Amino acid sequence: MIVTSVTVRVPAKINLQLAVGPLRADGYHDLVTVFHAVSLYDEVTVAAAAADSVTVVGEGADQVPSDGDNLALRAVHELRAAIAERDDVLVDDDDDDDDEDEDAAGDEDEEAPAGPLREGGAPYIGGVAVTISKRIPVAGGLAGGSADAAAALVACNELWQAGLSQQELCDVAAAVGSDVAFAVLGGTAVGRGRGERLSPALVAPAVYHWVLAFADGYLSTPAVYGTLDKLRANRAVGTPELSAELMSALRAGDAERLGAALSNDLQAPAVSMFPALRKTLSAGIEFGALGGLVSGSGPTCLFLASSAARASDIAVALSGAGVCRAVATAAGPVPGALVVRGSVV
Ligand code: ATP
Repeated sequence: MIVTSVTVRVPAKINLQLAVGPLRADGYHDLVTVFHAVSLYDEVTVAAAAADSVTVVGEGADQVPSDGDNLALRAVHELRAAIAERDDVLVDDDDDDDDEDEDAAGDEDEEAPAGPLREGGAPYIGGVAVTISKRIPVAGGLAGGSADAAAALVACNELWQAGLSQQELCDVAAAVGSDVAFAVLGGTAVGRGRGERLSPALVAPAVYHWVLAFADGYLSTPAVYGTLDKLRANRAVGTPELSAELMSALRAGDAERLGAALSNDLQAPAVSMFPALRKTLSAGIEFGALGGLVSGSGPTCLFLASSAARASDIAVALSGAGVCRAVATAAGPVPGALVVRGSVV
């Protein structure tokens, strides 16, 4: 049996806490963050092809690179390299896909090369055509690019029947970007380092109801960190600490306490760069949210509601108040990247 295409659904992430330490010598910041996966999904399909390619459709597709800069393609390259190192297999990396055989055949179509099977009958690791269907807004602080990279890893692991465990995929993910490993794992997890050192959080089996208010614009993550550094230039910045109150609220499954404990060190710089967010945040609280904050580096704002019905009411009220471009409701936590469809021959 040869798998010819695999589709993976992958969630957006929000940060229930994002504590940012001082700027490190390498330009990054040490973080302590509590990631939470919510039910707003991108879908990524990979199919065996003569050469690597990426096609992006849906929300914000025109702002997403469709070349090797796309995080999903970078993930494909990393996974190939990891499998090659593990198995010493024959790998056709797309970087040198202008080889003579292909030119002689004039083969520009999407057909997969009929390469030799690997040990145990697993397929040849050739090119992949990646199709990303986006619903997670681009540069919205919801780690959509990282989600697509995680989905590509899970999908190619299946397409190539490579058999990497979830932990092995997380190790590859960490080399692609800070938030990628979490999108493989999903649920609720504590991230340290640049966010890539993950441990699952001990939580009660509660479902939380969120309202996402999407802004009319975007914020660059590096620029928001730069503004944070400027805002804190004249004071000592301590080592980031996990919020004991937030973790206790999660262990108790207490939405009210969770709403009061949400925190994000990137909120002040994001609001200073995008002042309209101040209005959005106060409107959500006025409409009855248990808590609200900027998501990651923004500009999406998040609100926690006491029930699914309250979340819908808040979403309608925010939409009517004209304080954001669009709204959505989502539940969390949800699992990370999961295979939803595949085809075989
Ligand atoms: P971060 O993950 O840095 O917090 P974010 O969540 O705000 O960022 P993303 O949607 O991940 O935003 O996009 C960040 C940048 O990554 C965008 O400028 C985008 O062009 C680029 N990018 C690369 N690949 C992708 C992808 N597959 N989907 C979305 N953005 C991508």
